[in-house]
Amino acid sequence: MTRISDTLAEGLTLSFEFFPPKTDEGLKNLHAALHELEALDPSFVSVTYGAGGTTRDLTHDLVVQIDQERAYPAMPHLTCIGHTRAELVELLEDYRAAGIQNILALAGDPPADGSPTTGDTGDFSYASQLIQLVRETGDFAVAVAAFPELHPRSPDRATDRRHLADKLTMADFGITQFFFDVADYVRMIDELAELGCDTPVLPGVLPVINPASAKRFAAMNGARFPDELDARLAACEGDDDRIMDIAVEVATQQCLELLDAGAPGIHLYALNRSEAAKRILAEIDLTA
Ligand code: FAD
Repeated sequence: MTRISDTLAEGLTLSFEFFPPKTDEGLKNLHAALHELEALDPSFVSVTYGAGGTTRDLTHDLVVQIDQERAYPAMPHLTCIGHTRAELVELLEDYRAAGIQNILALAGDPPADGSPTTGDTGDFSYASQLIQLVRETGDFAVAVAAFPELHPRSPDRATDRRHLADKLTMADFGITQFFFDVADYVRMIDELAELGCDTPVLPGVLPVINPASAKRFAAMNGARFPDELDARLAACEGDDDRIMDIAVEVATQQCLELLDAGAPGIHLYALNRSEAAKRILAEIDLTA
């Protein structure tokens, strides 16, 4: 299968992010979306991982299935907080044995209520420590997370950018949290360049087809939710077709501006659905 870093070196990439469904119905919908999206010729897809390992087997099985059955590689997300080194090595060895060649190495979040996580939390605190373990365990291409509007746990901008530049320098590429203002992405790329880091960072774009959950995630991730978009969506509350139209229009414009600004590709938060992605991709040219 393919190392995503090689694909990025060849030109613009298109990727989709999915989460592992917990019901049979959800799984059926996801496979329908995967089938539909295949026509868009994605460079890769990625599958999220429940913090502390709550979707460990679901993520693993889905990634391996997609990677084996589809024409594009599937990359698992993997978080290290709450896991022991031995648990992570076992999972990475399973991925390696299954032919998986790409890993998104993440810290994850400590439990919000302060309760103890499973495993020995002392083993890992930061994504950079997981990158080292991934490299030691197999010949994987390694992706990491980036936050254009700063990570919520960062004490200040300079510290955030220094840790991000160090982490990206150890990795093969980055993928951002969703954001709405292209200027935030451009500023982050410029700040990384000033620190001597030119590792490609794919912008993550979220079509806001579910305004309530998008606003909740934005608040959790320290991402600004634009007032104007909020007002437009609020004005059509309950009208899912109109909300879809706005989501597609706004995300399409953002993708066009990002590509104009030199982004190395587009990573769409597809939310296990295909309609918004298909409509957005009909408007943008990734063959340049
Ligand atoms: P890190 O890079 O470790 O950074 C976390 C904080 O620590 C930052 O403030 C950073 O500046 C600071 N830091 C880093 N290194 C050091 C150091 N050496 N000393 C002091 N401070 C340091 N979460 C999930 O649970 N499952 C998922 O599947 C998932 N997928 C994601 C996909 C993407 C594309 C993104 C952007 C995020 C995803 N997340 C996921 C969320 C992510 O796990 C959380 O945001 C987490 O809080 C930070 O992860 P990180 O890998 O960026 O951490």
